[in-house]
Amino acid sequence: MALSLLQQAAQYLKKALPLMLKYQIPITPTNYALWYTYVSEQNSQLNSQLDEIVNQYQTCPPSAAEQLYREHIGSEQDLNTRELRQSVEAMTVELSQSLRDTSLDTTTFRERLDKNFGKLNQLEQQATSLEQIMDMVRNLVQDSGEILNSTDYFHQQLEKAQKEISLLQQKLQEAEKDGLFDALTGCYNRRAFDLDVKLLVKEVPNKLCVIMADIDHFKRVNDTYGHMLGDQVLKAVSSRLRETCRDGMKVYRFGGEEFAIVVPNSQLRMARHVAESFRRSIEKVSVKDRRKNATINNISASFGVSEWQSKDSPAKLLERADAQLYEAKRLGRNRVMPISND
Ligand code: GH3
Ligand code: MG
Ligand code: MG
Repeated sequence: MALSLLQQAAQYLKKALPLMLKYQIPITPTNYALWYTYVSEQNSQLNSQLDEIVNQYQTCPPSAAEQLYREHIGSEQDLNTRELRQSVEAMTVELSQSLRDTSLDTTTFRERLDKNFGKLNQLEQQATSLEQIMDMVRNLVQDSGEILNSTDYFHQQLEKAQKEISLLQQKLQEAEKDGLFDALTGCYNRRAFDLDVKLLVKEVPNKLCVIMADIDHFKRVNDTYGHMLGDQVLKAVSSRLRETCRDGMKVYRFGGEEFAIVVPNSQLRMARHVAESFRRSIEKVSVKDRRKNATINNISASFGVSEWQSKDSPAKLLERADAQLYEAKRLGRNRVMPISND
């Protein structure tokens, strides 16, 4: 990418991030592309629709973001890599420039840049937190520091970049406190769930299911391996859930070891099958405990499924899923309720 384009990207990034933080928008590739397009003012229709949503909700619920994205930007696939790459490239623009100014050989640095951008290709399926992006930028900063540690000027640039990064991280943490995003797992949170369900039932009433999932005997995992490993298990389970999602499904962490999955455009029979595939995928989760040289691979979860009914409320929908989850626990765990009879 030409440097002038990168500089433009950097400008947009500097405009988009504060807005995203202000409205507590999770830094996912989809959202990033949306707000990036918004601040670049390329699409007035998108801008007025997004304005309207933000006016109404003081944020942009995930399902609304997805719809805007589909309508105005394009397929999820090219976005994830392209826009994300652009944002990281933007973060390094000042570094690249200082490298040029030092007129030293930059081949090695380029190679490392490419390696880091290569990693982004692996992120296609999952939401990427700002923290992950910043980690990559930090690696770049470190790599370039090793190459050019003799230049005072470059040192100053590095320090500046590092300060900017930690400031952004601080802001992100503040925003996450009551945002839409769960910091530990990278899933959406309970608040995002409430907003999404409200929106979805307006669109297609009577075609929506909710799956509640709760990890079995999670307390034992904590007791046996410690809280840190417990956190690793939570992360692994949540990414497995996200990877297993299809067709507009989303995963929300409800707190603790409890997750909800919204299954739009589906009725109970299909949602039960979906829950069954979640259940099987969690059985395959394994997490290594390096210190004890042990592997935790007996993770399971129980599931309760409910279907939207006419004259329903989001609270009732959840209550029914919760009651089914309770049944699944009572009957011995690691199962989906209600039982399928097809
Ligand atoms: P059940 O099969 O009936 O669901 O048993 P359980 O042990 O999973 O359920 P219980 O509600 O008794 O325990 C949940 C545990 O989850 C207790 C709490 O310490 C742990 N927990 C909640 N949030 C977190 C977290 O963020 N990280 C870790 N490591 N543990 C958590
Ligand atoms: Mg549990
Ligand atoms: Mg629980």
